[in-house]
Amino acid sequence: MRRLDNDADGRAGVMGRGHIGPGEDSMADLPRGVTVVDHPLVQHKLGLMRRKETSTAEFRQLLRETALLIGYEVTHDLPLTELEIETPLAKMRARKIDGKKLVVVSILRAGNGLLEGLLDLIPSARVGHIGLYRDPDTLRPVQYYLKVPQDLAERQVILVDPMLATGHSAAAAVARLKENGARNIKFACLLAAPEGIDNLLRQHPGLLIYTGAVDKHLNEHGYIVPGLGDAGDRLYGTK
Ligand code: URA
Repeated sequence: MRRLDNDADGRAGVMGRGHIGPGEDSMADLPRGVTVVDHPLVQHKLGLMRRKETSTAEFRQLLRETALLIGYEVTHDLPLTELEIETPLAKMRARKIDGKKLVVVSILRAGNGLLEGLLDLIPSARVGHIGLYRDPDTLRPVQYYLKVPQDLAERQVILVDPMLATGHSAAAAVARLKENGARNIKFACLLAAPEGIDNLLRQHPGLLIYTGAVDKHLNEHGYIVPGLGDAGDRLYGTK
């Protein structure tokens, strides 16, 4: 996986080679805190998911697998502690994840596709759900459902939604989580549009964003181009 480190003026720097997605020329324009997980397996699976011929069953499986790989990167800085254990041969000090426990919060409904993969990786994580719909008059996200663990302040929150498009839903979800006490939030997605990244970071400076790729732009309907279509429909076969 390639990490994008930040230089002194706050833009993401580049480590490694390659490109960030089908529409971008350079990673140097990415804002601080954005990590593109460009592991070959992620890029390969993402390419399969983008294809319109890919079946619902294949898409679901690929999203689950990709979530695992992105989750590996999202969790790379979890603190470790040591404890004494006994192997069949000897005593030793083994390492375990320390302190804060994790909660994965899914933005309904497509977030559940990423959630499943993250739970394969971190079976003991707590789970939250947030449902938002777009008000037809204001076009702003309105919350219709929220269920999260009570001790959010003590936890590392990983908020998941496959598509960071306009960024309105993600920004609203982060705001709700903060209102409910969350202090450490990371956002993980499969694909992001530059507009969504900018919007989300404008509303929540310092948020860490992990994505499989940054695509070219949004179309007039708010879809990521080239993207993969409606992630919820692709995941659940509803279209
Ligand atoms: N939501 C999706 O599912 N797809 C997009 O391209 C944008 C938002």
